[in-house]
Amino acid sequence: MSDTQTQQWQAMSRDHHLPPFSDYKTLNARGARIITRADGVYLWDSEGNKILDAMAGLWCVNVGYGREELVEAASRQMRELPYYNLFFQTAHPPALALAKAIAEITPAGMNHVFFTGSGSEANDTVLRMVRHYWAIKGQPEKKVVIGRWNGYHGSTVAGVSLGGMKAMHGQGDLPIPGIEHIDQPYWFGEGGDLDPDAFGVQVAEQLERKILEVGEDKIAAFIAEPIQGAGGVIIPPDSYWPKVREILDRYDILLIADEVICGFGRTGEWFGSDYFGNAPDLMPIAKGLTSGYIPMGGVVVRDEVVQTLNEGGEFYHGFTYSGHPVAAAVALENIRILREERIVERVKAHTAPYLQKRWAELAEHPLVGEARGVGMLGALELVKDKKTRERFTDQGVGMRCRDHCFDNGLVMRAVGDTMIISPPLVISTDEIDELLAKVRRCLDLTAKDMR
Ligand code: PLP
Repeated sequence: MSDTQTQQWQAMSRDHHLPPFSDYKTLNARGARIITRADGVYLWDSEGNKILDAMAGLWCVNVGYGREELVEAASRQMRELPYYNLFFQTAHPPALALAKAIAEITPAGMNHVFFTGSGSEANDTVLRMVRHYWAIKGQPEKKVVIGRWNGYHGSTVAGVSLGGMKAMHGQGDLPIPGIEHIDQPYWFGEGGDLDPDAFGVQVAEQLERKILEVGEDKIAAFIAEPIQGAGGVIIPPDSYWPKVREILDRYDILLIADEVICGFGRTGEWFGSDYFGNAPDLMPIAKGLTSGYIPMGGVVVRDEVVQTLNEGGEFYHGFTYSGHPVAAAVALENIRILREERIVERVKAHTAPYLQKRWAELAEHPLVGEARGVGMLGALELVKDKKTRERFTDQGVGMRCRDHCFDNGLVMRAVGDTMIISPPLVISTDEIDELLAKVRRCLDLTAKDMR
């Protein structure tokens, strides 16, 4: 494709498109990068560059690009029944088959799913659902949800409010009332001199303090990602989740485990909750549910919660595209691929240990203060001083590194000065070697810039 064509697309972007999460000033000055096709773990841009996608799109293309079976599933379903809704006591086979397939892979005792169109809609749904649940149980005052600073739960009003991204709160007078936040279990960034486990307990205990501050009879639920993704792949210390569970049990508070990133194999288990041995009450899901081939999300709900909802009569909530038949057919086929090709098992036994071994080697690099990871997730903390964890000040080292990656055929994301990866689950060990070689080269180029 010619330059002229790229420039034409960039002009269309500038003249007609308002893209999500983009700095409009710099985007319009530099022009958008145009991605035109993809296969396996690779993307191609309009200039013909081949790029290793170490983010699986936005943490979602779990089975990799170019799976014909998913295309077939969508076209078959479009011919058979392209649309019908699930409102007013109707249903259709793809949504029902998918609900059953999800129940077969989710943690024990979680056998029902409410379908949505995205992860954000799933989190709007949990907010309404947990408040509705407590109202049915005769405790309507239990409606406050506690989330975490730097957590991410989506971009709708409820999603932003439940999340703890301060820049997002700053736009549009958010969070809405009835949402509280506590600190994240980010040992490298906020743990100071404490050892990780002592820090894990300390941040978990903030939950109890917040419950007592707000009033123990007012808290409906605690929402958290098993591992924070968008916040910078923040893996809680081992002591964190058991302490959180203990506190939630003590005060009879629901646990919402946001599995939008961790779900469908990302940690080497089907769900992040399986990885940590957690038993959540509600699990928002999306992304890996369809491997991103088509939009879909949902909320998986524990049996006891469903029993109460059943007693409550009509739940006045739903989306036109809840359980969309084409999305459901694609999700069902995606789950079939994950199961039959034993992709999650392969990640756990083979590719994740290999990735994590190679990833840990990056800790020796002069720029890297910590290299951490779980399953098919990884993070690098870029620092000025490895010993003291001192950061570079105002030099945008993360963005520089990200730009070097783009220029060297690699998509890696920067969260401040934390570089993160989340490659397709089907990545091979050879492709992991290529990924590591590229990361190392980009770290070297970034280190050169910082001299
Ligand atoms: N929850 C988590 C943990 C996420 O990472 C995301 C998106 O990145 C969402 C919710 C929102 O999902 P969506 O972008 O599909 O609305």
